[in-house]
Amino acid sequence: MAANIIDGKALSNRLRESIKQRVGELKDRSGITPGLTVILVGNDPASAVYVRNKERACRQVGINSNIIKLEENISQDELLWHIDSLNKDKNVHGILVQLPLPPQIDPVMVINAIDPEKDVDGFHPVNVGRMVTGQDCLEPCTPKGIIRLIQETGKPIRGKNAVVIGRSNIVGKPVSLMLLQNDATVTICHSKTSGLEEICKRADILVVAIGRPNFIDSRYVKDGATVIDVGTNRVGDKLVGDVNFEEVKQIAGWITPVPGGVGPMTITMLLENTLQAALKNE
Ligand code: NAP
Repeated sequence: MAANIIDGKALSNRLRESIKQRVGELKDRSGITPGLTVILVGNDPASAVYVRNKERACRQVGINSNIIKLEENISQDELLWHIDSLNKDKNVHGILVQLPLPPQIDPVMVINAIDPEKDVDGFHPVNVGRMVTGQDCLEPCTPKGIIRLIQETGKPIRGKNAVVIGRSNIVGKPVSLMLLQNDATVTICHSKTSGLEEICKRADILVVAIGRPNFIDSRYVKDGATVIDVGTNRVGDKLVGDVNFEEVKQIAGWITPVPGGVGPMTITMLLENTLQAALKNE
C-alpha cells in the first residue's frame, strides 16, 4: 500500500494561524510586537530569495521584519558592529545572519556574537549546549520542524529505532539529539559509515539529510517506516529530495514530499522561535 504523505505545507499553514493568533494576543496583552532582523551580506540570488520568503512569512503572522543589506566586501568588524547594535535594540527579538557569508568573514565569530536570547536560528553554542542538556532553549529551525512532522503521523517516537543520515551542525546532529530526547534509539550515519543500507533498513524513522538527489531508494527502507526527506537539490529546473519519492512511497508508512515537506516547516519554526524570544520580554 502506498505511504501516507506528511503534508508540511498544510501543517505549516495551521501552525502559522496559531502563531498569528498568539502574536496578536501578545500585542494586546503587553504592547510587544515580535521583531525579526535578518542580515543579508552580498548578492547571492538564492540567499536573497530565502530572505524575501522569511520577510513575507513574518508579515503574514504580524511579526515586524527588517532586512539589513550589507555589501559583499564588508569587513568582519563592521558586521559584528551591526550585530552588537541589534543585540542592544529592545524592539529586535530575533537576529538571523543569512548564510553563507563571504570568505573574509568567519561564520563562527558571527554566530557567537549574537545574543543567545535572540539567536532564533538556534546555532549559538549556548543554545546548542542547552539543547544537549535538555534545558529550555531556542532550537534550530529545520530539526524542530522535522520533529513536528514526525509527530504529525500520530505514531510514537519513544522506543523506536531512528536513523539519521547526515551529521551537519544545522540538521543531522541536532535532529539526532532531539530524537534522543524524544526517547528514540538513534543511529547517526555519514559518508564514512559502512553498511548504510543494512542500518537504514532497521529504521522505524529514517531522516535523510545528505544533499544528493534521489540517493535513498527502496533498498534502504523498512516496510511501514516514517521517512523524512530533508534534501533540497536543484536538478534542471526541478527541486528534488535525497529520497527517491516514487519508489520509497510504495514501501514507507509515511513520507514527506519535496517540495512541500520539511522546507515550509523551517520558516514556520523561525516564526515560532521569534515569538518565543519575544515572549521572554513580557
Ligand atoms: P551538509 O553539511 O553537506 O552535510 C551532508 C551530510 O551528509 C554530511 O554529514 C555527509 O557526511 C553526509 N553524506 C554525504 N554523502 C553521503 C553518503 N554517500 N552516505 C552517507 N552520508 C553522506 O548538508 P546539510 O546542510 O546537512 O544539508 C543536507 C541537505 O538538506 C541538503 O540538500 C540541504 O540543501 C538540505 N537542507 C534543507 C533544509 C530545508 O529547510 N528544507 C534546511 C537545511 C538543509 P560527512 O559528514 O562524512 O561528510
